[in-house]
Amino acid sequence: MSKIHNFGAGPCILPQEVFQEASKAVLDFNGLSILEISHRSDDFIKVMEEARENIKKALNVPAGYTVLYLQGGASLAFLIVAMNMMRGTKKAAYLNTGAWATAAIKEAKNAGMAVTEVASSKDKNFNNIPKGFEVGTDFDYFHSTSNNTIFGTQIKNLPKVPVPHICDMSSDFLSRTINVADFDIIYAGAQKNLGPAGACVYIVKEEILGKSTYANIPSYLNLDVHQKKESMFNTPPVFSVYVSMLNLRHLLKNGGVSAAEKRNQAKADLLYGEIDSNPLFVGTTAVEDRSNMNATFILKNAELEKEFNGMWKAANIEGLKGHRDVGGYRASMYNALEIDSVQVLVDVMREFAKKKA
Ligand SMILES: *Cc1c(COP(=O)(O)O)cnc(C)c1O
Repeated sequence: MSKIHNFGAGPCILPQEVFQEASKAVLDFNGLSILEISHRSDDFIKVMEEARENIKKALNVPAGYTVLYLQGGASLAFLIVAMNMMRGTKKAAYLNTGAWATAAIKEAKNAGMAVTEVASSKDKNFNNIPKGFEVGTDFDYFHSTSNNTIFGTQIKNLPKVPVPHICDMSSDFLSRTINVADFDIIYAGAQKNLGPAGACVYIVKEEILGKSTYANIPSYLNLDVHQKKESMFNTPPVFSVYVSMLNLRHLLKNGGVSAAEKRNQAKADLLYGEIDSNPLFVGTTAVEDRSNMNATFILKNAELEKEFNGMWKAANIEGLKGHRDVGGYRASMYNALEIDSVQVLVDVMREFAKKKA
């Protein structure tokens, strides 16, 4: 079977070694299948502990933070963070940088928060990251989205704010080094850059737990409940946690996050370099805000799309079609995508330009 270059935005590509080991565990994980073992067994408790510990190692998580693997994806996290961060003001500040940030705002309102959008790039179809905004002190928390999967922008310098900072890092989690101490909650749906769908990771400053003023917060939505049960309040998403653990092991063995960051930068430089020098294509976002994870671009002449689509499909490329909100193309370059795959795409773009010259 020839190699397929998966540029899909999620669920994402994972290292082949991880797929191989995971597939073995489906058949035999100390006798039983990983899919049938008890989540209360010693074997699985070890998996959960390593999965939590490896996040701490990978991101240098300081003391005073806990790591949880919950269900419900990032979409449930939108609600969970609002409920858990509700304090005296019931006011929250949001940076609106795209469709996921907009969805997070909606859920905060559903939780009863009064939301102030401190800045938004909606008027420009979210093609940039607003800068120079200020966050006042009269908020229970500030929420940002580090990488905008759909629009292809990324916050290069995550802002420091005078209130607790909550960040949705779903689509650039573990892709670059961050200073965890700057945040009160970081969350990330596993399926973008960590593992298979089913789990959502939370890195939580323990200090914020148990302080919510939300009345009768439902047990599953209460991070304090999960922390007290060491992320085993109910049946965790066993397979997703297991494969995430394998992927974290693989990451740590290969130089950790800082090495991944360098590889990701090289991939992004290669592709954006081609987008900028190729006469047929143009990027859709502000250059300084370009995402190293999801590169969005279009053909200047949309009539050429059919022909270009035929060429990249013939080169075994998958998942390049842009999101319907942007159109054109989106190349997602998560940690496990190798630079060889980016080179294949760049070669196709060059060949197409030659053909059309
Ligand atoms: C995909 C994505 C989400 C939604 O994730 P689910 O786990 O499917 O709910 C939220 N935020 C960002 C930035 C995403 O990329």
